[in-house]
Amino acid sequence: MKLLENKIAVVTGASRGIGEAIAMKLAEHGAAIAFTYLSSEEKAQSLEKRLKEFGIEARAWKSNASIYQDCETFINEVVKHFGTVDICVNNAGISKDNLLLRLTPDQWDDVINTNLKSVYNITRQVIRPMMKARNGSIINMSSIVGIKGNAGQSSYAASKAGIIGFTKSIAQELGSRNVRCNAIAPGFIETDMTHYLNEGDAAKAFLENIPLGRFGQVEEIANTALYLASDLSSYVTGQVISACGGLNI
Ligand code: NAP
Repeated sequence: MKLLENKIAVVTGASRGIGEAIAMKLAEHGAAIAFTYLSSEEKAQSLEKRLKEFGIEARAWKSNASIYQDCETFINEVVKHFGTVDICVNNAGISKDNLLLRLTPDQWDDVINTNLKSVYNITRQVIRPMMKARNGSIINMSSIVGIKGNAGQSSYAASKAGIIGFTKSIAQELGSRNVRCNAIAPGFIETDMTHYLNEGDAAKAFLENIPLGRFGQVEEIANTALYLASDLSSYVTGQVISACGGLNI
């Protein structure tokens, strides 16, 4: 059964990793997909092609999620092209890990602007069509690190914790318009961002703390996003769903 027929979905940062898997999952369930990337031109073109193989409309935009003007232009063009936005997945993100003593102002700004300001930039645009339609699902990519913190990741943790506060506030602001807003807090998922997991003895140390005893796969986060995007979660808003193999217990 397809869960998202006739829906229009926006996914930021979908050229690789978790965003790519979410775009593919939503398309498999019938949603048209408008997605962004920053630098992976070839991967974005390849994804656009693979998405269309599901028989849905798909289009890639080169758009920097950390720049307000880029996001405004992107969503205006999506609404012009697709008519509306029903689902918005704020996924674009980076990490620039450093102990606080060595963390430069530029590194701090890059992470906060890409991970947190981006969520404001895009959400502020998509709520107009969603409020008009009295329907919408916004999904923000947080992290277990935003809940627990992590030495060497203060900027990343702050950005991901900020996303949780933003998510709960927007859920309260827009609940009466039937616009839902939830966050996903993944644990360690195997992507380019977490390449270090399989280097040297690192994996063993990380795995010891994960009750399910393994790292997560991008499809497992995509399945969580599908639940939040669809009517399966029609009475769920303002929540943070941890998909982390039990690492948060
Ligand atoms: P990834 O493999 O490094 O992919 C990051 C994606 O974000 C790429 O498509 C990249 O585009 C895009 N991107 C980066 N900066 C951007 C910007 N300024 N504007 C638009 N797009 C931008 O990362 P990932 O592991 O899939 O992570 C995806 C999200 O999940 C992030 O928010 C991350 O913090 C979160 N997360 C990941 C994990 C994990 O274990 N992997 C755990 C918790 C949370 P280009 O390819 O064009 O550069």
